[in-house]
Amino acid sequence: MKHLDIYDVLNDKSLLGKKVTVCGWVRTFRDSAQVAFLELADGTSFARLQIVVDKSKLTLDPECAKNGASVCVKGEVVKAFKGEGAELNAEEITLLGKCPPEYPIQKKRTTLEFLRGIPHLRLRTNTFTAVFRVRSVAAQAIHRYFHEHRYYYVNTPIITASDCEGAGEMFRVTTHGYQAKASSEAEYYKNDFFGQKAGLSVSGQLEGEVAATAFSKIYTFGPSFRAENSNTTRHLAEFWHIEPEVAFAELPDIMEIAEDMLKYVIKAVMDECPDEMNFFDSFMEKGLKEKLHNVVNSKFGVIDYTDAVEMLKKANAQFVYPVEWGCDLQTEHEKYLTEVVFKKPLFVINYPKQIKSFYMKQNADGKTVAATDLLVPGIGEIIGCSEREADLEKLVSAMKARGMDMQSYKQYLDLRVFGSVPHSGFGLGFERFVMYVTGMENIRDVTLFPRSVNNIM
Ligand code: ATP
Ligand code: MN
Repeated sequence: MKHLDIYDVLNDKSLLGKKVTVCGWVRTFRDSAQVAFLELADGTSFARLQIVVDKSKLTLDPECAKNGASVCVKGEVVKAFKGEGAELNAEEITLLGKCPPEYPIQKKRTTLEFLRGIPHLRLRTNTFTAVFRVRSVAAQAIHRYFHEHRYYYVNTPIITASDCEGAGEMFRVTTHGYQAKASSEAEYYKNDFFGQKAGLSVSGQLEGEVAATAFSKIYTFGPSFRAENSNTTRHLAEFWHIEPEVAFAELPDIMEIAEDMLKYVIKAVMDECPDEMNFFDSFMEKGLKEKLHNVVNSKFGVIDYTDAVEMLKKANAQFVYPVEWGCDLQTEHEKYLTEVVFKKPLFVINYPKQIKSFYMKQNADGKTVAATDLLVPGIGEIIGCSEREADLEKLVSAMKARGMDMQSYKQYLDLRVFGSVPHSGFGLGFERFVMYVTGMENIRDVTLFPRSVNNIM
C-alpha cells in the first residue's frame, strides 16, 4: 500500500497542505456534534497522529472508531490545532481490520504484569513502543560505535562444545529422544548429533579471543543462553550479549573502552529518542534524564574489591548476606555501593581469584585477578570484564586447580603458545542496559518474548 509513516507526517514540515495516506491502529476516539477525532498510531513515532473527521463531509464507519481497529486514511496535512505538530483532515477512511471489544489492550487494565500475559499484543502500547524504539536505537548505536573505532563485528557460534567455565549453566543441544538409554554419559553423547556433548553458548568470549588475536579489535553482538534457575527481574534464559575483545589492552584500557562506549550509546539514545525519554522520565523513573545526563558528563567510580568489602562491613545497612573478603558480592551489596555510596556507575576491580573464572589474569599479589564488574544504580552488574591470562603456565595451573579438561581447551591454550599477547574484553548484557536507560524494572519488559524458568510463551 502506498502510504507515509506517521513519523514523517508529524515531522516533515514540507507536507503541510499536501494530500497523504497513512495507515495504523486506532488508539482513541472522541466524538462531538460536528467533528470526531481519531488518534492513530503506526509504531513509527511515539506521538500519534490526530485524524479530524468533519461529519458534514464524511460518514465514519463505526467499526473505524473502535479501539484497536486498523484503518487507512487519506486526507490533507494541516498544522495541529494545538502545539507544533501536524494533524490530518480526513477525506476518506477505509477499514482494514475490525477490532472486537474483547481486545485486551484497554486503558484501564494495562498494568505491566497484565501485559506480560499477552506478549503478542502488548507491543501496541505506548510503553512498549518506547522501549523497543530505544532498544533498536541503542543496538544501532553500539554497532556504530564499534564500527567507527574499526572493530570487526564477528559472529561466534551459538552451538558449542566448550562451556566458558564459570559463566553459567548450559542448555544441552541433543537430538536424542527422551527414552534414549546409554551405559555412561560419554556413551550417551557419542551417539548424539555431534558425537560429543554440546550446548548453547553462554558467552562468545573464547571464540572472541581467537578473533582478537588476529584482528586486534573485535566485538560480538548476539544471543547467549544460561540455564540458570534464578527467577529474578534481571535474569533471562536467553539474552543478548555484547562482547568486545581487544588485543594489547590491559584492564585499565578495557575499562576506558567500556565507559566510552556506554556514554556514546546513552547519548545517542537521548539525542534520537527525545519523546520516548520524556515518557520514561515522567512515568517510569523520575529524574531519569538528569541521571543519564550526569552519567554522560562525569567519570565512573572505581573501587578495589578489598576496599569495597571493608566499606560494606562498616556500612550502616542491614544485609541478608554477610560480607567477608573472598565472598562474591550479592545484588544487595552491589546496589549499596553504587546507589548509596557512589550514586553513579562503579567499577569494582581486582576480585579474589577463587570466585572468578579460570581465564582471568592473575595479579602479582597471588590472591586477586584483573577483573571488574561494572555496577549501576537500580540494577547492579551490567558488565563483567577482565584482562585475560596471557601466560601459558599460569593459565594451565589455574585450569588444573579447577580440575578442567585440558584437551577440550587445546585451541584456547594455543593462543598462549603462538605469539601470546595481553588482551582484555567484557560482556555487556543488552537487556540490562536497556533497563538502565529506560528505567524499566523488569527484564521481561524489555524483551519481545522473554524466556525464563517455566516461561516460554
Ligand atoms: P549475574 O552475576 O548478574 O548473574 P554474571 O556474573 O553471571 O551475572 P557474566 O557471566 O559476567 O554475568 O555476563 C556478562 C553480562 O551479561 C552481565 O554483566 C549481565 O549484564 C549479562 N547477563 C549475564 N547473565 C544474564 C542473564 N541470565 N540474563 C540477562 N543478562 C545476563
Ligand atoms: Mn559477571
